Amino acid sequence: MVRENLEEVNSRILAACKRVGRNPEEVTLIAVSKTKPAAMISEAYSVGIRDFGENKVQELCEKYLALPEDIRWHMIGHLQRNKVKQVIDKAVLIHSVDSLRLAEQIQEEAARKDLVADILLEVNVAEEESKYGFKLEEAEHAILEIARLPHVRLKGLMTIAPFVENSEENRPVFKKLRQFYVDMQSKNIDNVNMNTLSMGMTGDYEVAIEEGATLVRVGTGIFGTRYYGK
Ligand SMILES: *Cc1c(COP(=O)(O)O)cnc(C)c1O
Repeated sequence: MVRENLEEVNSRILAACKRVGRNPEEVTLIAVSKTKPAAMISEAYSVGIRDFGENKVQELCEKYLALPEDIRWHMIGHLQRNKVKQVIDKAVLIHSVDSLRLAEQIQEEAARKDLVADILLEVNVAEEESKYGFKLEEAEHAILEIARLPHVRLKGLMTIAPFVENSEENRPVFKKLRQFYVDMQSKNIDNVNMNTLSMGMTGDYEVAIEEGATLVRVGTGIFGTRYYGK
């Protein structure tokens, strides 16, 4: 099932790129494997997927140990400061930096391990109460502050768009984030390398690609519905 779903998702990614004249190589699919077993991840791995997304530190760490070394693990969920230490050398990219205190904690742990951590700033474009992330109007200040942290490298922006019936409803959200991303690129801020725009999930990744996403995070569309056991 995973194999067939991946074929479908990949062909939709190609079609979305084609519609807007983008090179498909600019778009990387992250298979969001949270709650899913190693066997399903292995199936995706066997057809060439190397980027996987997890939203819990413990689960990411367990899968990191159990699965092939060349997997690129993406931390996409809200990260508590006391857990930074555990993921900092396992995740290739932390998408969910939603406070300056978290960025400072990443700086501290990365310095201790003598590495530079790649991160994205999470932006709550639609200003939903239930979601983490900076408001768009706060994001530039946050970027300038993070740029001062030598062991943190800001690579771009991430957003989780609202849950909607019709993915077209999220187009303005993606457009806004893309516009801000381009503005920030043009400022050429030292120690900021704006080249990554993480947006789009199962319900809306095609629209996100049309609006400039470079990373899409697809879970259900690849692995099926998630069941959260008690
Ligand atoms: C779970 C999750 C996804 C994947 O969601 P689907 O709708 O299953 O594709 C993407 N991004 C984040 C941050 C998530 O937590």
